[in-house]
Amino acid sequence: MERIKKNFGFGCMRLPMNGDKVDEEQVCKMVDAFLEAGFNYFDTAHGYLEGMSEQAVKHCLTSRHPRESYVLTNKLSSFFFEKEEEIRPLFEKQLECCGVDYFDFYLMHAQSEEFFAKFKKCRAYETALELKAEGKFRHFGISFHDRPEILEQILTEYPQIEVVQIQFNYVDYEEPAVESKKCYEICRKFGKPVIVMEPVKGGSLVDLPLQAMEVLEKLKGGSTASYAIRYAAGFEGILMVLSGMSAMEQMEDNIRFMKDFQPLNEQEMEAIAQVRKIFQEMNLIPCTACRYCTPGCPKHISIPDLFACMNAKKQYQNRNADYYYHNVHTSQKGKASDCIKCGKCEKECPQHLPIRDLLEAVAAEFEKKEN
Ligand code: SF4
Ligand code: SF4
Repeated sequence: MERIKKNFGFGCMRLPMNGDKVDEEQVCKMVDAFLEAGFNYFDTAHGYLEGMSEQAVKHCLTSRHPRESYVLTNKLSSFFFEKEEEIRPLFEKQLECCGVDYFDFYLMHAQSEEFFAKFKKCRAYETALELKAEGKFRHFGISFHDRPEILEQILTEYPQIEVVQIQFNYVDYEEPAVESKKCYEICRKFGKPVIVMEPVKGGSLVDLPLQAMEVLEKLKGGSTASYAIRYAAGFEGILMVLSGMSAMEQMEDNIRFMKDFQPLNEQEMEAIAQVRKIFQEMNLIPCTACRYCTPGCPKHISIPDLFACMNAKKQYQNRNADYYYHNVHTSQKGKASDCIKCGKCEKECPQHLPIRDLLEAVAAEFEKKEN
């Protein structure tokens, strides 16, 4: 952990795209700018962008910069193994995909009650700890998406865990479905440094509802993202805040306010409290656009994009949302009403969203004339 230079990390889950491919030319520029500004933490996973994130890490970071100039985190994801014997080969493949011979951090990915049971059955924690003892990675941790009691159970059973990655942002702080505050307090109780994911809630805290935007504009300070990221980074014990940057402009903005990080002051905290209230009153679908749900959908429904249309309509009474729904997100793919309710998507959703019910509401909103 001593090799980490600053408390802000490059999440490689939402990289800039050029059609179906990662725009590696742009990613190279972003990586260079990030390192140049004194940051050095990168986060990926085997499934991010259907394998293209690890490839981009290799092409844009590890093959172009000395190993000691960056800190790289990867994860063991439930989708890619069913038994113990599959874990080592998967790990070796991840090293190869990223072009490195060790990871700095290796996390048991998206732990929940269900995944933890599977990881235990497959001796995943034990296998990972063996890999660590062999020098294949340096620090052992988990990323977590479930109730605080489950986090407490995991940390009690595996005191070897060194870091915990949790979803943490000003809207989810006391949100009953996420309970960031309680999860954070458990990390503190167990003395585990915290890595924050989703500080801007999948972009929802960047494109704020108009009333919320007005509150932040009055501060005459930084961007909407800056308040969200500085909020998360300002808590005691936060080792790292990750941002899934997908454009150079976002990176430049983030570098600007995280290079010499300052926590939010009292006035800014008050504004955030107002924004949180406005946000909560809108009752938006709390999808973070992680896209874990989409590869397995037999009807090829672009679930997060349809939820984004629904939220845009609620937030801005945005008529464009209808255009996007019909002409962009469902023209080649399934509509909300095509859902056959198989439930596969819900098993993958780290936010535990009732996707089938939500799609019914989306269909009712956008497919009125056709129904
Ligand atoms: S429940 Fe509907 S949206 Fe989910 S995977 Fe099945 S068909 Fe796709
Ligand atoms: S519905 Fe769930 S799994 Fe799908 S993108 Fe949203 S948060 Fe991720």
